[in-house]
Amino acid sequence: MALDLKQLEAEIIEQYLEDDNNRPWIIGFSGGKDSRMLLQTVWIALKKVVKELRKRDVYVVCNDTLVENPKIVQFNKKVLTQIQESAVKQSLPLTVVETIPKIEETFWVNLIGKGYPAPNKIFRWCTERLKINPTTRFILDKVQERGEAIILLGTRSDESSKRAQSIKSNEITGKRLRKHLLPNAWVYAPIKSVTTDELWQYMLQVPCPWGSDNRELITLYKNASGGDCPLVIDKTTPSCGQSRFGCWVCTVVDRDKSMEGLIENGEEWMEPLLDLRDLLAKSRESNLYRYETRRDGTRKEGTLGPYREIFRAEFLEKLLIAQKEIQAEQGEDISFITYQELIAIQVLWFRDHFFEPTVSDIYNKVYGYELDLGEINQSVIKEKELLKDVCHDDPEYFNLINDLLTLQKTRVLLMKNRGLQNDLEQRILKHKKSSN
Ligand code: SF4
Repeated sequence: MALDLKQLEAEIIEQYLEDDNNRPWIIGFSGGKDSRMLLQTVWIALKKVVKELRKRDVYVVCNDTLVENPKIVQFNKKVLTQIQESAVKQSLPLTVVETIPKIEETFWVNLIGKGYPAPNKIFRWCTERLKINPTTRFILDKVQERGEAIILLGTRSDESSKRAQSIKSNEITGKRLRKHLLPNAWVYAPIKSVTTDELWQYMLQVPCPWGSDNRELITLYKNASGGDCPLVIDKTTPSCGQSRFGCWVCTVVDRDKSMEGLIENGEEWMEPLLDLRDLLAKSRESNLYRYETRRDGTRKEGTLGPYREIFRAEFLEKLLIAQKEIQAEQGEDISFITYQELIAIQVLWFRDHFFEPTVSDIYNKVYGYELDLGEINQSVIKEKELLKDVCHDDPEYFNLINDLLTLQKTRVLLMKNRGLQNDLEQRILKHKKSSN
């Protein structure tokens, strides 16, 4: 192996011991090949530091977009448990942290709840919400707690010429750390000059220190590439961030080749997911599925507005059918939408005056039993009856008060009150205009 591992480890040890203010290290871990090599080299290096000097905390942060490829979810779950257990056994100051998007930022709450169209290259609303924000929140928390933090990235110059340029332009000559965009955060990229071939050779030759088998990762990559060996073919440009596996719902890429590869290699149970992804890709261009005007009522040549309610309801049903089918085959542990997301979607549908079918009607139709949405359904129905009684002489007031109450409730449930007053004023103006 041309790679000088001894030198790489020595550099990591030197950096780990470099200052005594114990700025924590935060390792972004996707479970893919780059972050895996990064963690492995850091781990082996730290084992060589005497126990008493292993004072700096190391956080291994893995973000789950909640729409990850299910094979990756299963794989990462196992690996993260192994990492945490082995770190404790081997007395390493390492903590695994799993981050997820905020409820109002998840893929389904935005797409099914609010009607956002499936993302494409021009309107890629998901990357920030699903991937960047959750990790950023963790980094900011650590910076606030400790004053500063160092983020370790598995970026490598070999991955693409664009990234090579970015690594180069961000480097301060003679220093290993470069400034992160976030305040008081620094970036350290120890494996930046490792080539892809060297990386795969490393994975084959150096046993994983937390007890995983690197060959499992190689097999996963191989199957996701239609059977080609990753040592030869891994040259594709990732769709998003550094991960070779994007979200299974991703419509920014023309085809989800990794999911197609996995299906071809025996994971046929994923087929319903591929069909849903294809439906999303088709739906984004059609005025059958999307309004011709935007939410604010404006129309722009060549663009469409949010998804129609009927499409959102039908898509939720299809998603739940796929989930039920896959659960029957793969076990109840697997799920593609959370209970909290279902509640948030219901709240948003009420806000859009979309009362039928309800989320629990759809759930009931698919699963054959009522989804308990707490007090949301009941309280909305009771409140409406009461309001109708009180406003029976003037139905316009019913519409206005109902609209304002729904808006306020949505904001409270989604814990987002910013802009509430402005939104309330806008609604009052709109009602005034329509009643004049
Ligand atoms: S992989 Fe695709 S869907 Fe997921 S965050 Fe990136 S662009 Fe969005």
